[in-house]
Amino acid sequence: MQTHTQWLEQFVNNSHIGVLVVDKERNNLFVNDRLSEMFGYDKEKLLSTNAEIFHVNHDTFLKFAELAFDAVLKGKPLGIDYQFKHADGSLFWVHIAGDPIGAANEVLWTMVDITPRIEAQQKIEDINYNLEQYLEAIDKIGIGLFVVDENYNTRYMNKTMISWFGDHRGKTCYSSVAGLSAPCPYCKLPEVIYENKKVSYEPTTSTGESFEIVATSIKNSDGTTSKMEFIRNVTDQKKVQEKLKEEREKFDYQAHHDVLTGLPNRLLFTDRLSQSMEKAKRNNSKLALLFIDLDHFKEINDSLGHDIGDKILQEVTQRLQESLRDEDTLARLGGDEFTLILEDLVEAQDASMIATKILNALSDSIKIDEHTLYVSSSIGISIFPDDGGTTQNLLKFADSAMYKAKDEGRNNYQFYNESMTELAFERVLMEASLRDALKNEEFIVYYQPQIDGRDDRLIGMEALVRWKHPSMGIVSPAKFIPLAESTGLIIQIDRYVMKTAMSQLHSWYEEGLNPGVLAMNLAATQLHQEDFIEMFQALMQETGCKAEWLELEVTESQIMKNPQKAIKILQEISDLGVELAIDDFGTGYSSLAYLKRFPINKLKVDQAFVRDLPDDEEDTGIVKAVIALAKALSLRIIAEGVEREDQKAFLIQNNCYNIQGYLYSRPIEAESFKEKFL
Ligand code: C2E
Ligand code: CA
Ligand code: CA
Repeated sequence: MQTHTQWLEQFVNNSHIGVLVVDKERNNLFVNDRLSEMFGYDKEKLLSTNAEIFHVNHDTFLKFAELAFDAVLKGKPLGIDYQFKHADGSLFWVHIAGDPIGAANEVLWTMVDITPRIEAQQKIEDINYNLEQYLEAIDKIGIGLFVVDENYNTRYMNKTMISWFGDHRGKTCYSSVAGLSAPCPYCKLPEVIYENKKVSYEPTTSTGESFEIVATSIKNSDGTTSKMEFIRNVTDQKKVQEKLKEEREKFDYQAHHDVLTGLPNRLLFTDRLSQSMEKAKRNNSKLALLFIDLDHFKEINDSLGHDIGDKILQEVTQRLQESLRDEDTLARLGGDEFTLILEDLVEAQDASMIATKILNALSDSIKIDEHTLYVSSSIGISIFPDDGGTTQNLLKFADSAMYKAKDEGRNNYQFYNESMTELAFERVLMEASLRDALKNEEFIVYYQPQIDGRDDRLIGMEALVRWKHPSMGIVSPAKFIPLAESTGLIIQIDRYVMKTAMSQLHSWYEEGLNPGVLAMNLAATQLHQEDFIEMFQALMQETGCKAEWLELEVTESQIMKNPQKAIKILQEISDLGVELAIDDFGTGYSSLAYLKRFPINKLKVDQAFVRDLPDDEEDTGIVKAVIALAKALSLRIIAEGVEREDQKAFLIQNNCYNIQGYLYSRPIEAESFKEKFL
């Protein structure tokens, strides 16, 4: 049977508590297994050894031991955390409690290993200690820190942040105060907090400073979430970047431009040419390449010196630029060779107009210092895609056309394709006589009736211009209108036609007749003339015409060139009370979406669809569809080019009652019109 002491010893040995009994002479009387385990020495060693080997610092221990003994023996219970050294040299923490045993002045020390707890605690303390340091470090390196909670309360701003934006803790959003460009950190709050997104952006302030903000969410100890922003002032960095970009652009510019004139050089020119060719291919349009070479430049250069030569080239550049549209590309290939790309030509012949303009621009004398110089040029023109499909070919052809121009005696232009040069010549003649025609009042206005086919009642007329040429006789507008449009002469011609027709209409009304509505054609260029509305209003006043007597015809292609602008002008016309009709309807590419937005009143079915009525299946289909479309959009409808009764019958049967065409009359002079229809 176990004795009391044996049982106690067994209990003590099995315990997780280390036990040590020390007598009043400080001799160790008893240690248990746990204690020997804690210190890493066997019990005998523990009992016999000088305590020094357990101690981190023996002197401190002795002082501590004295105090502890005293306290315990005086009946004060003692509990203290103390660090010892293990046999393997590692340190460990124990919680020591002491109790006096009996009257023998012996003390029972119990020890519990608390190393894990102490370590954990130290870690926490480390972190707390470090957090302060981190925040300080962040401040020191100039990073702003901003924390805002779910309720839009600013929780934290470090010093850096405050120095930038002022102290907004607990109150307003700092961004609005600083005038940040966007977005407000509050606006980004839901994204960061609820979607757990990391967002970054680079706003600038109203004073031109740039910041880089990275925001992310952090969990608070109370379970709520905050948004934390790290903000860097990147103003200087931005400036450096911009400077670098500028330098790079400067370098880029220099690599692609001619130093003397600032024009694109050969490299950039070739690039632009192939781009323009791509574009022309896509848009199904034409482009012209002009090769411009100054005449006798070498002689000037040799006799007057390079300085004067350079100045001439600069002056020539300026004059060339003044003859061009913004979208044209002028380049200097070197020496006295210039090239010019003209995009979006309506017809190849338009290039000859520019060539003429250039020849004229260079024909004025150039004054440099005391010298008065005359510089002319020879120009060669090639056309894409007509002449060639590659950049090299196009350039080669323009170049060889330029030599042809030199051969022809210089100071002229030549197309690579010779028949084009002839055509250009004809056009120049025609253009000259068109100008004369305006001066000599060779234009007359014809009128073609528009009739309600159901009862053959006159509802109005279309004014159509004719050119009564002194030697060629009557020239049809189909021949000269395109030229008049591309030279801009159409504006004067149309004003003349409008004025004449409107005066005529007014005098018919004055006579008590009922001529109905006068329809007039509006040229594309007219439609884009800034002062058109003003001019038209003035004409109405001058001729005494009422708005409801008038109608203007525009074609789809005219409108679709620039629908936004067209809508604006058409709206202004419509606001005057003047009706609008779409001419040649069906031949262009109206977008139905636009059609709905145009303030138009009437569609004019083109004669191309009328011609083969009523037998051609396609045409009957198209005409029926156009009539249905007009009905759906609440537009009135008229068919033009009606020559035969069967065409008229088909149209009336399908609810298109208004008819214009040779069936009733060709366009005729005012006198005959009055006789026949009024
Ligand atoms: P448009 O506006 O489509 O004019 C209708 C054209 O069809 C007129 O030709 C007219 O004579 C012709 N025509 C009328 N009925 C018939 C017919 O039954 N059969 C045939 N085969 N043809 C018929 P025109 O007068 O030679 O005018 C041609 C184009 O010139 C006009 O086409 C219009 O775009 C333009 N134009 C005429 N006068 C002016 C004007 O004063 N200003 C402007 N900007 N353009 C005008
Ligand atoms: Ca017309
Ligand atoms: Ca027409």
